[in-house]
Amino acid sequence: MAASFGVAFDDAALDEDGADALPGELRRRSAYLTHPVFSAHRSETSMLRYLRSLSDKDLALDRTMIPLGSCTMKLNAATEMAAITWPEFAGLHPFAPVEQARGYTRLIDELCGWLAEVTGYAAVSVQPNAGSQGEFAGLLAIRGYHRSRGDEGRDVCLIPSSAHGTNAASAVMAGMRVVVVACDEAGNVDLGDLRAKVDQHAERLAAIMLTYPSTHGVYETEVREICAAVHDAGGQVYVDGANLNALVGLARPGRFGSDVSHLNLHKTFCIPHGGGGPGVGPIGVAEHLVPFLPGHPLVDTGTSGPAVSGAPYGSAGILPISWAYVRLMGPDGLTRATEHAILGANYLASRLREHFPVLYTGADGMVAHECILDIRPLTKATGITNDDIAKRLIDFGFHAPTMSFPVAGTLMVEPTESEDKAELDRFVEAMVTIRGEIEKVATGEYDATDNPLRNAPHTLAMLAGEWERPYPRTTAIYPVRGLQGRSYLSPVRRIDQAYGDRNLVCACPPIEAFAEHDFGAHAPDADGSTPGRAAGAPDDLGTTADVVGAQA
Ligand SMILES: *Cc1c(COP(=O)(O)O)cnc(C)c1O
Repeated sequence: MAASFGVAFDDAALDEDGADALPGELRRRSAYLTHPVFSAHRSETSMLRYLRSLSDKDLALDRTMIPLGSCTMKLNAATEMAAITWPEFAGLHPFAPVEQARGYTRLIDELCGWLAEVTGYAAVSVQPNAGSQGEFAGLLAIRGYHRSRGDEGRDVCLIPSSAHGTNAASAVMAGMRVVVVACDEAGNVDLGDLRAKVDQHAERLAAIMLTYPSTHGVYETEVREICAAVHDAGGQVYVDGANLNALVGLARPGRFGSDVSHLNLHKTFCIPHGGGGPGVGPIGVAEHLVPFLPGHPLVDTGTSGPAVSGAPYGSAGILPISWAYVRLMGPDGLTRATEHAILGANYLASRLREHFPVLYTGADGMVAHECILDIRPLTKATGITNDDIAKRLIDFGFHAPTMSFPVAGTLMVEPTESEDKAELDRFVEAMVTIRGEIEKVATGEYDATDNPLRNAPHTLAMLAGEWERPYPRTTAIYPVRGLQGRSYLSPVRRIDQAYGDRNLVCACPPIEAFAEHDFGAHAPDADGSTPGRAAGAPDDLGTTADVVGAQA
């Protein structure tokens, strides 16, 4: 007998009598979903309150900007989201007969057409489910193209050291050999090194993967030259379009020399992300690569590249979000969004520059849609790190910026067009106040280790308990006036940074319960390290240099 919601039933009879009864040897005999949370909430009221308690702990876009550089955490407007809850969109099976999916077909065709227009490419495939999968699909298209011309040996992929770690990983998955190109002091691709590497590998050059604007948040002025150098040697150009929030309406990769790009609809085109999937990482390609876009064994997509997803149109269920975004914004609106994103980033960079150096800018002193604040000099002088600042920002009610990517010891800030000036000013005020606190550490007014930065974030439990800190409670939670009347306090203190990543411990149920199971690659190794993660890799997103370093 089994029970569900307190009602007993004969599961053996159900399984054995049913037409699709499971073979006995495949039936699960171990207990599952044993954590109390899976059985504690048995009424809608209780479930509602449970979900509310989770969201109370969350520091999400409904409370603060999420200035995660490289992630483009912009507004996911309710209007854009509404349609994905409609059964007409949500209930369709990915392999439903095409004639039953005419609405979807039209939506996909329209969206692909708009994305092709925005990027300057001949065609777009929405099959890849993530940016990284788009990279993989794009590189397979490049390989397919080379092979179709008898260029079997072209397998070298040039990748600048600043590139997102997924670039190198995708190249390796596509069977290519990664050759890293150096960046100069200004953070741009080192043209001398690029030319040397192109010459050295000319015969075998398959592609370059270039991020534009770069992961340093700068428009590289030599982008056309870089593309030309690679083309002259017979290679193809892949532009990583994850930073398209700095380009839409202003420049088109397909027109400045690129052959293929992925976009992240879950960044630039408003699909929510940050809590895991699903995502959409479509690729756009120039005319000569169109035949090599992902195909599908069961559905005729008109293209013949290998499928990269189970479903012919990937995460089709969330495409209505991006469709609605483009449709609502229109060409002028999309361009204005880009301009606002760039303006916001430059406003932050120019207001924060005198407090924290901006690591990379273009020749004109401007950044693109994000900026890297260099914390390393302050860390050297005071011991206060980028992590301390990120944690302290939580006390100010802000989600942390991106930490240590693409440069260790820095913070990368991307405000997006969704933030108005008041929110940007609130962020500046927080950062300037934090800079003042760091100064107090420098002068010795604050203890080097027992100070509001090191102890951040402050929790209710800390504040309500014995208070023996050398600074008042009000400094901990009301560092600026605007925070009075605040409703958010971090529910947890720090959990030992990357140590926790590398030494996995399941908080519940007890770890012994897991000893009976084989959790394969997720289990910590005997030495406590986590497989698949390079020792010494930065806490957050890895760069190409890390991936290649880990390979060596
Ligand atoms: C986010 C990002 C990616 C990877 O996209 P996913 O959808 O996370 O796989 C690749 N390159 C850059 C520059 C990015 O910012």
